[in-house]
Amino acid sequence: MAKLNYYSGFTSGLREKLTKTRFGRLGDPLYNRRNIRTSRVLMKYSTYVKLGKEDLAKYSGGLIVILKPKEYFENPDLSKYDLELGRTCIIYYTNDEDWKKYNPKDQSKGWEDVIELDTDIPDGWKGHYAVNIRNSGEPEISDICLSGKHTVIREGKKQAGLGNYDFDFASEDEMNNVCYQLAYLIWQVPDIKEFMINNFNSNVKDFEDVDINNSEKLGGIKNYIEACISNVEDECKARNLNNNKILKEIRAMDKDGNTVCPLCLEKLTPTLFVTTIEQDEGREVEGNTITEISLFHIKGLKSGEFNHAAFNLGWGHHNCNTIQGNKSIDETIISLKKIIANNSN
Ligand SMILES: [Zn+2]
Repeated sequence: MAKLNYYSGFTSGLREKLTKTRFGRLGDPLYNRRNIRTSRVLMKYSTYVKLGKEDLAKYSGGLIVILKPKEYFENPDLSKYDLELGRTCIIYYTNDEDWKKYNPKDQSKGWEDVIELDTDIPDGWKGHYAVNIRNSGEPEISDICLSGKHTVIREGKKQAGLGNYDFDFASEDEMNNVCYQLAYLIWQVPDIKEFMINNFNSNVKDFEDVDINNSEKLGGIKNYIEACISNVEDECKARNLNNNKILKEIRAMDKDGNTVCPLCLEKLTPTLFVTTIEQDEGREVEGNTITEISLFHIKGLKSGEFNHAAFNLGWGHHNCNTIQGNKSIDETIISLKKIIANNSN
């Protein structure tokens, strides 16, 4: 039998949900990427000054500090840090006022706008500043901040953002921990085993060839699914990830070991994982693939913290996730209580 992985035995939709957890998000054009979480990160100066050497060393894919013009030109503290323009930091211009006041082209220092040379090399970039001023009579946009049909190639490399948000970073090992723990939580959804078996029998194309071959070798899908569950459980045990007590404490599981939504604590069902959300009439987006179940970060992702980590993730309702926003689950419950209290008189 071919080697099993955390996504073995799952339908394509579930495999994709797990794969997606390995990538950073889109956002500001300078960060305009969905790179793997181990990639180079861009970090605000205010975050950088708060972190110690040990934490800074964790960003193994490289780190660029993003300075506001004022933080570079009018900051006596800057010399205290190991920051050198074009080597460890760049200046990022996002408004007209700064662009005129601290114009990098006026500095006669030979500064150049930043370009990426290689995504996979920490130092695979060069330049001193980036600019993204769009809502102005004279828009100024660096090539690195362009996207879609405006994308340009410089020095043989497509320019499309410089890195991920620092809070999206996770090491390879932590990404694997997260994927195994999330797979473990999926296998603890009531009736999930039957759901996978029925899907396999009714729509085998939704599974990988390796799943089909493995199930033939093991004498049927039922045996194969059992093997997939055992594999995830064994791997979680080896990595100390199958601690139901902690998973209950973080609200990813109930006391009986069923996977629940971390906010409303309702038990999840298999079909929710594959049902796409109903879109508001008149606001439908073509090709909507958002399902009723979303990934939850129990403590929200915060600059300077490594919150994409095991025992900080769970699965829950898309709607509950929308209510949570960037807050932690604890903060969300406090704010919901306040809303209810204000409405109870
Ligand atoms: Zn919920």
